[in-house]
Amino acid sequence: MRLTVIGTGYLGAVHAACMAAIGHDVLGVDVDAEKIRTLSEGRPPFYEPGLDDVLTTALASGRLRFTTSLREAAAHGEVHFICVGTPQRPGSQAADLRYVDAVVDGLVPHLPASCLVVGKSTVPVGTTARLTARIAGLAPAGVRAEVAWNPEFLREGFAVEDTLRPDRLVAGVTSQEADETLRRVYAVMLEEGVPYISTDPNTAELVKVAANSFLATKISFINAMAEVCDAAGADVVTLADALGHDTRIGRRFLNAGLGFGGGCLPKDIRAFTARAQELGVGPAVEFLDQVDEINQRQRARTVALARQMVGGDLAGRRVTVLGATFKPNSDDVRDSPALAVATALHQQGADVRVHDPEGTANARRARPELDCGADLLTACQDAELVLHLTEWGEYGEVDPAELARVVRRPVLIDGRNALPHDSWRAAGWTVKALGRPSGPDRPSEVRTTREPLRAKIASPATEPARAVALAAASPAGGS
Ligand code: NAD
Repeated sequence: MRLTVIGTGYLGAVHAACMAAIGHDVLGVDVDAEKIRTLSEGRPPFYEPGLDDVLTTALASGRLRFTTSLREAAAHGEVHFICVGTPQRPGSQAADLRYVDAVVDGLVPHLPASCLVVGKSTVPVGTTARLTARIAGLAPAGVRAEVAWNPEFLREGFAVEDTLRPDRLVAGVTSQEADETLRRVYAVMLEEGVPYISTDPNTAELVKVAANSFLATKISFINAMAEVCDAAGADVVTLADALGHDTRIGRRFLNAGLGFGGGCLPKDIRAFTARAQELGVGPAVEFLDQVDEINQRQRARTVALARQMVGGDLAGRRVTVLGATFKPNSDDVRDSPALAVATALHQQGADVRVHDPEGTANARRARPELDCGADLLTACQDAELVLHLTEWGEYGEVDPAELARVVRRPVLIDGRNALPHDSWRAAGWTVKALGRPSGPDRPSEVRTTREPLRAKIASPATEPARAVALAAASPAGGS
């Protein structure tokens, strides 16, 4: 099928490459000429594992091209996917839909024939209906452009896998024809048994914000428990493990720590509350304000803990922050909790160095005042405090004894509760984490009597392996 993918950022570039990979003839469109040039050369403009391979193969197949021209897109596509950003509107909680509207305004007057316009961006409920009316006023005579919504659930870091093998496809459609068109687009996935939920556009739009609201709530729930654990002298990791054994609850997204960030979860829950207020049901999702507040509070709590760990005043203290991206396996620093904490430490006078395996360039651009870019050991040289704030797998593999030799004081705040604390303590480190008692004989690390038996049966993961596994199942990884 002839598809266009308009907006080739984290979502659109992956969608375009993957649609070509499953056999469609795809034209990717973006207003950013530099991004289009890079993509045309087979170089992803951002870090996403596996994307370079899919992109190169798709370009070589001749089924993927890129352009900055919406006129060219109009001529090419029988289905047009809208994948542009929907950030938080300045000075408001609501979503800024100006980029979505600009696509419609730039595309529709040039349409030569009837087609399907499919939104993938995350939008407030009611957007399909609004765009349907807008398009009706813009379409050339005799041309019908139906709108459908097909929200995207990919996670940065797993975007290629999530696009090629999604856990579900949701199609918000107003006609049988639109439904059949979307089923043809995703025929390869449907043949593999991917669940396909066909519904009305309002429900489809809501699925996405409801999913992100649920994930955000789960993370903030465990972080609220961490605050209680701190006050009560209890251990939030053991608490989460015990809760997680209940299959009704599950262990995923129950990792207490610095909380969520990125270009989606924070702005999506805010936009949802704004939209609910417009619909007259603000109180129904008022709890999301608390979810947001709890999340923001973890950043402040981490800064306060850092201040405490250096004796009450951060001015002039050398501090190293491990991680700048909002989650591992991405270079995305949008609303990154790690970068927010690094910035706050800098503002309180600390001499901050930031290390990140892939996010340095974006961190520098976003926060030029921070010292980013040194390799891990150099970044930690003479540090009086190290904060582990993004759970990259490579931090789980650091040799704490080697690191202890380069720092001035071996003091660690594990803002993700993902490092093997026993090993770090054994190497001489003082380790602190939100929601966890800090003595060496914390209950969570006292072996239970069942563990040796489990070891015989299934050789459970060692602590370092667990840290890497936790990194892979990033709690801050909402799409
Ligand atoms: P992004 O900022 O990386 O990409 C948006 C792209 O749209 C940019 O390249 C921008 O130049 C382009 N653009 C803006 N206006 C345009 C126009 N008029 N014509 C053509 N291109 C235009 O954003 P993203 O992370 O890819 O997110 C896009 C949407 O997808 C958002 O609604 C987001 O909430 C949603 N989403 C994102 C993810 C994710 O993990 N990033 C996952 C699921 C859903």
